[in-house]
Amino acid sequence: MPTSEQLEAAPLPLTALSGEEKMFQATVRKFAREEIRPYVREMDEAGLFRKDLIKKFFEMGLMGIEIPEQFGGQGGTFFQAILAVEELSAVDPSAGVIVDVQNTICNNALIRWATPEQKAKYLPRLAENMVASYALSEAGSGSDAFAMATRAEDRGDHFLLNGRKLWITNAAEAGFYLLFANANPEAGYRGVTAFLVEREFPGFQVGKKEDKLGLRASSTCELILDNCRVPRENVMGEVGQGYKIAIETLNEGRIAIGSQMIGLARAALEHSVAYAKERKQFGKPIGEFQMVQYELARMATEVEAARLLVYNAARLRDAGMPFLMEAAMAKYYSSEIAEKAASKAIEVHGGVGITKDYPVEKLYRDVKIGRIYEGTSNIQLLTIAKKLLVK
Ligand SMILES: Cc1cc2nc3c(=O)[nH]c(=O)nc-3n(C[C@H](O)[C@H](O)[C@H](O)COP(=O)(O)OP(=O)(O)OC[C@H]3O[C@@H](n4cnc5c(N)ncnc54)[C@H](O)[C@@H]3O)c2cc1C
Repeated sequence: MPTSEQLEAAPLPLTALSGEEKMFQATVRKFAREEIRPYVREMDEAGLFRKDLIKKFFEMGLMGIEIPEQFGGQGGTFFQAILAVEELSAVDPSAGVIVDVQNTICNNALIRWATPEQKAKYLPRLAENMVASYALSEAGSGSDAFAMATRAEDRGDHFLLNGRKLWITNAAEAGFYLLFANANPEAGYRGVTAFLVEREFPGFQVGKKEDKLGLRASSTCELILDNCRVPRENVMGEVGQGYKIAIETLNEGRIAIGSQMIGLARAALEHSVAYAKERKQFGKPIGEFQMVQYELARMATEVEAARLLVYNAARLRDAGMPFLMEAAMAKYYSSEIAEKAASKAIEVHGGVGITKDYPVEKLYRDVKIGRIYEGTSNIQLLTIAKKLLVK
């Protein structure tokens, strides 16, 4: 928590960045524009993210932003991870979510909950070359995540895991899965336990890959656990503490989904402004018509408002201050305005907006998931309402 002296000092504007943050933001922006942008359409059509780009994410330190330097990471902040996700998502929201899942839910959970031995074993690999997935959801348990059917049977020195996980981001590329299973179903959610699962563990298999509307380059797969043998030392936290790890990790992760959405909404705005200057109707650029100006101005205002919510939630998290309601608001609002921005961007483009010759068609497909994953909009509203109504 900040000291009272620190709080008494004149606070900075929410969008003010430190010198280091500015440099980091500029580096990621340049990388995204120069090295990812040329492949965005190809990757969307193929439904595959290029391995060489993921390798570059690691080389640039983007997969281990908060991992302490002693483990080969960047020793950076959560806020930096938020900046990276925004910059990548402004070029390709699939790139944004790969880096988001790695940093803000997987690495983040290990940094907070893993034992010194688990950290020493996995954090250096997560910083260097191992993609991670976060496996909570199942076919029968989405919003009601702890109603999961995957079971973990205690066999002394190991657990046997049986069940199926669904919708797991990064699963095709991952070597490591932070996976939740219930080790004591009679105890309900208090049986949920977090396991560190390696792809090579016997009985573990990556199943069907989803053929999606948007975020097509980001893999989303089923995981199959058939007597998957996980050593006891790969339980993270206590047996039965997994629900707490899952909730607290997702509370942070959803700020990064807000960041993915502001990156996407910013892209919708930038493409719309450029097109409004260039496209002529009735003898003048369409940007000279007040009704088009109105749409652009409204989009810009909403992107700025969403950014303030996201940055504030991230700053609160880094300051060790409560941020639960602010994170839910940031994710809820950013995903709502991003969907509006992507839709309006197509309208500003007119007919060409729905063709693949212009980038806004893809943004419109990519944006839909923002209101669904890491807690649907309804679930965010429930969290906010609970904070308002329950003392
Ligand atoms: C592309 C993609 C990537 C994903 N990545 C991951 C991942 O990496 N790891 C992971 O574990 N999961 C992942 N998910 C799963 C995602 O988190 C769930 O899809 C999400 O939580 C919603 O669950 P559901 O799909 O079962 O919908 P449901 O929970 O069945 O919801 C259906 C509808 O009912 C509403 N609803 C449900 N309960 C309530 C309630 N109490 N009050 C009001 N409304 C309610 C919801 O808001 C929604 O509109 C991913 C999903 C997708 C599509």
